[in-house]
Amino acid sequence: MEQEDSKKFLIIGGGLAGSSLAHHLIQRNQSVQIIDDGENHSTRVAAGMVNPLVFRRTTLSWRAADFLQYSWEYYKSLEHLLNITLAEPLLIRRIFPSEQEREEWIKKQELPDFQAHLTPLLESETPQKYKTAFGTGLVKSGFFVHAQDYYLKNRAYFSNQGLLKSKTFTPSQLDPMSGTYENEVFDHIIFCTGYKNSSCPFFNNVPVKSTKGQTLEVKSDIFPENESLHLKCFVFPIGQQKFRIGATYEWDNEELVPTETAKIHLLDQLKYISEQEVEVLSQPIGIRPTTMDRRPTMGTHPQFPKLHIFNGLGAKGYLLAPRLAAEMAEYLLDGKALDPEVSLKRYKFFS
Ligand SMILES: Cc1cc2nc3c(=O)[nH]c(=O)nc-3n(C[C@H](O)[C@H](O)[C@H](O)COP(=O)(O)OP(=O)(O)OC[C@H]3O[C@@H](n4cnc5c(N)ncnc54)[C@H](O)[C@@H]3O)c2cc1C
Repeated sequence: MEQEDSKKFLIIGGGLAGSSLAHHLIQRNQSVQIIDDGENHSTRVAAGMVNPLVFRRTTLSWRAADFLQYSWEYYKSLEHLLNITLAEPLLIRRIFPSEQEREEWIKKQELPDFQAHLTPLLESETPQKYKTAFGTGLVKSGFFVHAQDYYLKNRAYFSNQGLLKSKTFTPSQLDPMSGTYENEVFDHIIFCTGYKNSSCPFFNNVPVKSTKGQTLEVKSDIFPENESLHLKCFVFPIGQQKFRIGATYEWDNEELVPTETAKIHLLDQLKYISEQEVEVLSQPIGIRPTTMDRRPTMGTHPQFPKLHIFNGLGAKGYLLAPRLAAEMAEYLLDGKALDPEVSLKRYKFFS
């Protein structure tokens, strides 16, 4: 195979966006450096569920088929490199809140696009112990990623390879026109800073919002250990009768503290699935980088051609990041156009 020209890339942020882009660039023989301050509040705390469905509307999520297969293969391919199991299949059970949603599922389960994802209703056994006035449906194509391991093992791997600097990026040390950072010249600098995008002077007018998500870790002997449950909240098994319950959506909120209000809210939501008391063990929280149109944000700064952004992965980063990282690498290395739906050019300031 022909050897590709190696360019120098600096990636700011080593969460899902930064790490998946780094792997794709390294695969293509590029020189990569990552700066990540270790203060991760999203990739590391996520539940890591990969669900191709949007339950409320019984629709497939944006480019689901494309993203689902690619992301599974990406996580499996990293397992050997990181020496760990990263991705495992997960049955995802929707508890229908209404007869209308149940009927919608029955309609959709026959459609070709849905057949790989929905288990026909007659085959989905409904456990007796949940409130199931309208029955339940099973998504059979989902999986989950061990989120904390994904972040920490990637950090350790990049660090062992001499590719990661565990420090804070200092904007004043960057000459944006020449791409010089701390006296080193880079061909491309990509900002993957998650919700901290607002503190990056080059892209701080990109509307990436901070959406706080609070969850509960609980102990219970009534929820299943081999599937997640979804009605008003999710119940995600993490082993040894422990479960993550989540998550809140608190817009424009960067306060890294758990609140009593959120705890009460999540326990109230959980009652729609089971009235049984649970023991609350902890309250993990994080902050998602979200956008108003629910599409990530990718592209190049209009004044500084060496500066780029890959952000706004929202609530489904584990599904979206791998394929979009591949597309970002193709954009940077081959000049291939980005999907217009993610392009930075959709914002007036950058068009
Ligand atoms: C509670 C919760 C549950 C979730 N559950 C799921 C789920 O089940 N499934 C799913 O697909 N998604 C889930 N998500 C969403 C998912 O976690 C995000 O889409 C994804 O992690 C965003 O990745 P990122 O790389 O853009 O941001 P981040 O993970 O925030 O990474 C950004 C990185 O940049 C670093 N950084 C920022 N600024 C600087 C700087 N100046 N200098 C150096 N380093 C810097 C930070 O330390 C951080 O490590 C969840 C999110 C939350 C909060």
